[in-house]
Amino acid sequence: MCDGVWQVRGYDISNITFIRGESGWIVVDPLTTTATARASYELITHHLGHRPVVSVIYTHSHADHFGGVFGVTSDEEVRAGRCSVIAPEGFLAETIGENIIAGPAMARRATYQFGPFLDPDPTGHVDCGLGTSIPIGAPGLIAPTIEIHRTGEEMVVDGVRIVFQLTPETEAPAEMNFFFPDFGALCMAENCSHTMHNLVPIRGALVRNSLRWSNTSTRRSKCSPTRQRSSSPRTTGPGGERPTCASI
Ligand SMILES: [Zn+2]
Repeated sequence: MCDGVWQVRGYDISNITFIRGESGWIVVDPLTTTATARASYELITHHLGHRPVVSVIYTHSHADHFGGVFGVTSDEEVRAGRCSVIAPEGFLAETIGENIIAGPAMARRATYQFGPFLDPDPTGHVDCGLGTSIPIGAPGLIAPTIEIHRTGEEMVVDGVRIVFQLTPETEAPAEMNFFFPDFGALCMAENCSHTMHNLVPIRGALVRNSLRWSNTSTRRSKCSPTRQRSSSPRTTGPGGERPTCASI
C-alpha cells in the first residue's frame, strides 16, 4: 500500500494488513478463519521474510475482522506478553452478543446474504462486493489486551505511532478508525467502502445509526491529527476491497 504497509486481498471477504514495526509485524484485522489468515501470513513471509507478529488490531466486532487470529498468533504468545491485542471499547461484549448469542440465526441468514454455497460461476457466486467470499470454517477469538477508550488516544506499538478515532454505533457497534503518521496511512475500518453498505443488514446484525456513522466519517476527513502536510493521509485502507492511494 505504501512503504512499510502491505495488504493481502482476495483470500477472504475482508483484507488483512501487515505493518512493519521495529521488531515484527502489526497485523490489522486477521480475516475470518485460521486458514485464510495463516495463508496470508505465509504469503507475506514468502515475499518479505519471517517476522514475528507483535500486535494484532481488531478494527471492529464483525467476525471477518478477528476470526482468523489464530493464523497469525496464539494464546501463548499473547499470555506471555509477546503479542498485544488492541480493540475498540466494548469489542468483547458486542462480539459475544452478535456472534454467539445471536450467532446461530445470523450465521444461517448470512448464507443468503453472501452466497458462500453458490458455485463460483458468472451466474452463481462472483464475489461479495466487499471481498471475494466468506471462507467456510469456525472463527476464533483472543480477547483484547488493550482497549481504546477515546478519540485522540495515541499509542506507540513496536516503534510505530498510531492515533485512534473511536466510532461506536457506526458500521458496527464497536469500531474505530486509526492513522499511522509515520506512514501517512489511514485505516477507516469498514466505515468507508466503495460498495453500497448496509444500514439494516439482512443477516440480522444490529441496525446501524446512519447519522452517527456519517458524522464520524465527516469528522475524520476534517480532522487531520496534526494538521501538518506531512502527517495527512496519503493512503486510505478500508477493511474490505481495495485501498485508495493519493499523492498530496
Ligand atoms: Zn464490518
